[in-house]
Amino acid sequence: MSIPTLHSALLIDGQLVAGEGAAEAILNPATGESLCQIADASLDQLEAAVQAAHRAFPTWARTTPAQRASALLAIADAIESNTEQLAALEALNCGKPLHLARQDDIPACADVFRFFAGAVRCQQGQLAGEYLPGHTSMVRRDPVGVVASIAPWNYPLMMAAWKIAPALAAGNCMVFKPSEHTPLSILALAPALAEILPAGVLNIVCGGGEGIGSSLVGHPKVRMVSLTGDIVTGQKILQSAARTLKRTHLELGGKAPVIVCNDADLDAVVQGIRTHGYYNAGQDCTAACRIYAQAGIHDRLVAELGDAVASIRFARKKDGDNEIGPLISARQRDRVASFVERALGQPHIERVTGAAVHSGPGFYYQPTLLAGCKQHDEIVQREVFGPVVTVTRFDGLDQALDWANDSEYGLASSVWTQNLDKAFQLAGRLQYGCTWINTHFMLASEMPHGGLKRSGYGKDLSSDSLQDYSVVRHIMARHGQQLE
Ligand code: NAD
Repeated sequence: MSIPTLHSALLIDGQLVAGEGAAEAILNPATGESLCQIADASLDQLEAAVQAAHRAFPTWARTTPAQRASALLAIADAIESNTEQLAALEALNCGKPLHLARQDDIPACADVFRFFAGAVRCQQGQLAGEYLPGHTSMVRRDPVGVVASIAPWNYPLMMAAWKIAPALAAGNCMVFKPSEHTPLSILALAPALAEILPAGVLNIVCGGGEGIGSSLVGHPKVRMVSLTGDIVTGQKILQSAARTLKRTHLELGGKAPVIVCNDADLDAVVQGIRTHGYYNAGQDCTAACRIYAQAGIHDRLVAELGDAVASIRFARKKDGDNEIGPLISARQRDRVASFVERALGQPHIERVTGAAVHSGPGFYYQPTLLAGCKQHDEIVQREVFGPVVTVTRFDGLDQALDWANDSEYGLASSVWTQNLDKAFQLAGRLQYGCTWINTHFMLASEMPHGGLKRSGYGKDLSSDSLQDYSVVRHIMARHGQQLE
């Protein structure tokens, strides 16, 4: 891979400016080496970014959907024409296999901007009409104001697209903060964004959560905060937002249950979990990580899945050979390792494969499968956010449903059976924002993505997201009942 240009300038009020805060080292997790230093925004720069968004808002809010759509389409084109550079940056900054960043992440980002460009031009809603005699009512959807959006590190540019596209389409202005670990791809797109968008409409500031992040969330001119991140971060944001009654849009963690019935297509299950339990090294809030296998298929599943997981390729020299990358940091790798260590301290849990830190450079952890896990084990209850999948045996489907729903999380789930009646009955009773049948992890820009319970309540993608980033208003005109 040729080394792409590393951009370090923030975007504030239409200008590309160097950060004036502390410098953060940006690492390549595949090697552990430092790629560059990126200077955070200073508090004065953060103030300038929020004020710029506030000034830009009245004009941007009055643009037509068609005007905003054409800006979003131009952003999609800029992403597409910079695919090689952006994919290379995602690969460097997250350690993702380059071919996967090129084939999965970047086209999905462009598609999200194109979807919202179309969606904002064909929104639907309640009819205008005379709901009181002599008065005509109509409903409008208007933007909220300045939105602060805060992203995680697992899919840096895709999370940026999920946040920026609906917020701008709905007519808001924004201050966007990438994760302090992964700012490179959005900073590389910043020059194109500065050309396409009027000054102040989208500002990009870098910095850590407790510093720039919490100052941004607390700013009185910010009317809405959108976060994708950890539950604890969501709780902090809610506490801060309560002081000024800001709207919040929270996409928090997940611990997806995967119910495998006796009559499931075993090959499809093995292939599905091998791919969707370990994709992005399991750093995915929808990862198929908590398997409930019915007694009649359990042993064959554990044996075949064990072999399949042991064959996942990583940390190889040739990019195209790799299926997954490393964890984002040494800290995250060590966190994953300590979850597995505690799990294996339980006499009933069996290591089927993996369960060790990779011996070479970088922050890799071996793809791991643990069997014999019980419902109340920490490894079954808590989000590991790494390449670790557990298997729990069940007898009856009611038992599986109870266990699947017995979780603080509520983001994604899947059901595997060749009996469609059973599939729909189970899907209808799962308390998750999404349930897949005989697949897992598939997303479409047209369909909502978001959680229940402590997984949060904001919807990304789909026209539901446009609604989340806008407010409903009622306009009523009194006009009497008699024509002259
Ligand atoms: P994190 O919560 O540590 O950080 C997310 C972002 O929040 C970062 O930009 C960080 O700087 C910022 N932040 C942290 N503390 C803050 C504060 N006090 N005020 C303002 N901002 C603050 O999460 P992470 O480690 O980057 O990402 C992993 C987590 O994200 C996992 O729990 C994962 O499940 C979740 N996630 C959820 C989804 C989803 O769609 N539901 C998608 C991806 C990741």
